[in-house]
Amino acid sequence: MTRHCPKCGQEPSKTKPFIEGFCANCYFERQPLIVLRHPPQAKICPRCQAYYHRGKWIRQGEKTQPDHLYDMVCDLLDPLFLPSQPAAFEIQLLEPPLGDSAKIKAVQVEITAKADEYPHEEQQVLTIPVTPILCNQCKQTAGGYFEAVLQIRSFSGKLDPDQGDQIVAYLNQRLIENDAPTSSLKFQETRGGFDAKCISGRLCRSLAKNLAEQFGLIATTSSKVAGRTRDGKTLRRDTYLLRFPPYQVQDVIAYKQQPFVITGIRNGRYTLTNPVTEQRETLSPKDLAEIDAELLNDEVETYQVISKEAEVYQLMSQADYSIFDLLPPTQELQVGAMVRAIEWQNQLVLLPEIEE
Ligand SMILES: [Zn+2]
Ligand SMILES: [Zn+2]
Repeated sequence: MTRHCPKCGQEPSKTKPFIEGFCANCYFERQPLIVLRHPPQAKICPRCQAYYHRGKWIRQGEKTQPDHLYDMVCDLLDPLFLPSQPAAFEIQLLEPPLGDSAKIKAVQVEITAKADEYPHEEQQVLTIPVTPILCNQCKQTAGGYFEAVLQIRSFSGKLDPDQGDQIVAYLNQRLIENDAPTSSLKFQETRGGFDAKCISGRLCRSLAKNLAEQFGLIATTSSKVAGRTRDGKTLRRDTYLLRFPPYQVQDVIAYKQQPFVITGIRNGRYTLTNPVTEQRETLSPKDLAEIDAELLNDEVETYQVISKEAEVYQLMSQADYSIFDLLPPTQELQVGAMVRAIEWQNQLVLLPEIEE
């Protein structure tokens, strides 16, 4: 006996299996794969692009905007699929709306569903409306709320703009790594440098510690009463004053009647290297600021190694072509190489390489 599809009259075959008495075509026409439990609705923070999902704000972090939006539609749609038969779903963003997240009104996606057990595929274009809602953190900063302040300054007057840029780039990177929106910090220029107001006291403390170690800054903390909570606890607001010492890595200074090179920063302390004895010393940023040493950078010159005779190198100044002997012991040099050196008490002193 042959069965027929009650709807279209087709007969089943190996390539055309029947489902629940109907041919696959007629079955999926009545019971499609792409069915959603309810229409999706997206919530995006217009300030920081975070989207809301299951009680949490998901931050963009280091993802690109299309990747972030793609993650959003997957998070949104995955739990809503209610296929009539087991199926695999694929989601594709259609012309991802790029740019200012505050202007995104909707996200359009194309959904493709493939039935696991039948040769059947469906496609549907879906428009997901977007509601702009400030995330919890942006809501706080919008209200001018902050718990602590970073003050970035230089020990000797004005902050170098390069130093300022490096600090801001580093802070923004740390925020991403801490899964905090960039609005967690509000920057404000001041006469000697800049301030960064931070919405979280704990975040601010960890940023201050990171900055001091990374950049070798002199750190001073102060705290003042900022008010009282509803349950009577005293609210304190911490200020972290972070200053660059007057010398930086690469500087050559006169210290203990010798030229010293600042060769690096490790764990917040500066390494000073004596180029003659190769002795090293480490100083805290505060101690470095207080040694009151003469800066010798202007006396550093480039020399070319022109010959080597009886273990003595001859070096020629690239500024005035005068010739100096470099006495052993000294590191192995290639004839022709360019080196940095300084004249000190009528002797030429080769300067060490700077650590990365
Ligand atoms: Zn049929
Ligand atoms: Zn936000």
